[in-house]
Amino acid sequence: MKKLELHWQILIGMLAGVLFALLMVQFEWGSGFISDWIKPFGNIFINSLKLIAVPLILASLIKGVSDLKDISKLSQMGGRTIGIYIFTTVVAVLIGLAIVNIIQPGKSITEETRISLVENYKGDANKRIEQAHKQKETGPLQALEDLVPSNIFKAASDNGNMLQVIFFAIFFGIGLILIPEEQAKPVKKFFDGFNEVILKLIDLIMLAAPYGVFALLAALVVESPSLDLFKALAWYALCVVVGLALMIGVYLTLVWIFTKKSPAFFIKAMSPAQLLAFSTSSSAATLPVTMERVEEHLGVDEEVSSFVLPIGATINMDGTSLYQAVAAIFIAQAFGMDLSIGAQLGIIVTATLASIGSAAVPGAGMVMLVIVLAQAGIPEAGLALIFAVDRPLDMCRTIVNVTGDAAVSMLVAKSVDKLNEPKVKNWDDNLENVK
Ligand code: ASP
Repeated sequence: MKKLELHWQILIGMLAGVLFALLMVQFEWGSGFISDWIKPFGNIFINSLKLIAVPLILASLIKGVSDLKDISKLSQMGGRTIGIYIFTTVVAVLIGLAIVNIIQPGKSITEETRISLVENYKGDANKRIEQAHKQKETGPLQALEDLVPSNIFKAASDNGNMLQVIFFAIFFGIGLILIPEEQAKPVKKFFDGFNEVILKLIDLIMLAAPYGVFALLAALVVESPSLDLFKALAWYALCVVVGLALMIGVYLTLVWIFTKKSPAFFIKAMSPAQLLAFSTSSSAATLPVTMERVEEHLGVDEEVSSFVLPIGATINMDGTSLYQAVAAIFIAQAFGMDLSIGAQLGIIVTATLASIGSAAVPGAGMVMLVIVLAQAGIPEAGLALIFAVDRPLDMCRTIVNVTGDAAVSMLVAKSVDKLNEPKVKNWDDNLENVK
């Protein structure tokens, strides 16, 4: 019998997780059971993905850069990558601003709901505000300074330091290009092999994906707030979701125009990564799978994907920037503020920068939203308004973050003539030798 394709397996796992949790909460002991006996398996799954993120970046980026053979190619690709990333992020913010100004979800919030939301979520919101202020207290060049690690082992020991690891890997790769071929060869061979091992580990981890997402979603259902709150925030959530869907449309169109690959081809190749992004709410945890899908199923050459994707996972967050724009204006509307065009233009800049600065982990976009609010003079306490629905929206925006990276990697690959026919058309072929 033909095995079910991976994205179906994952979807079934997700659905089963939700249904199982809905059933379990009918029993008094149900929530406790899920927290104690199901959730840990979800955490193990996410941990195993994160576990290989740093080694994967190191191995694939060093290999990718050293394969380039000359530095001008690297700077050409780097320039294009950053340029397209910034372009898509600005488009995302503009889409967000357009929708939130048309639908005006903030106006549908009653005074009563607003006060009770602010009251209920004050504590949680304050924690995020504090975190954001810590980040803000630094000087203007701090981000640049943070890019260069003083100790690579220390940098690699924290998944939050992805950019430092990327810096080291590129730097190391450049060194490898510059030394004589004979001396570079064994080092490159080592990283080639290392890279292959990591890719195989991703295959193995993905065997557990349907069970992992089952556990993650079951835990999420028992921890989610009441349905009434969702209703009060339905218009706001709708704006974010519609904007995100439009953004996916933008990627599909760009990919179609520039690479002539159909939307169905793109979505089919990327759906396992997208479903995982949804279940884990983390672009960093999804990165190993994104890389695998982009290389093997979209046909992007490793030289390009190993460079474009790790950088994208850390700085290109179009879903996050769109959400930050919608959330900021929504909060302003709910507080009865009318933002001028100037203030909204300011949001384009701050949301773009804040999304670049957001870490690729759950909830990071909300912390950086504080900075967007502060710049636009919107009350930070408004964060409490959107708290209740932030997790589901985080799951959705992470899909867009991951999809955006994949789409841009195709565009960059096409522009440097590195888009090939996909190696693996079916995930099952890929897993043949695992079993
Ligand atoms: N969870 C998002 C990501 O990892 C970031 C965010 O918007 O909170 O891509």
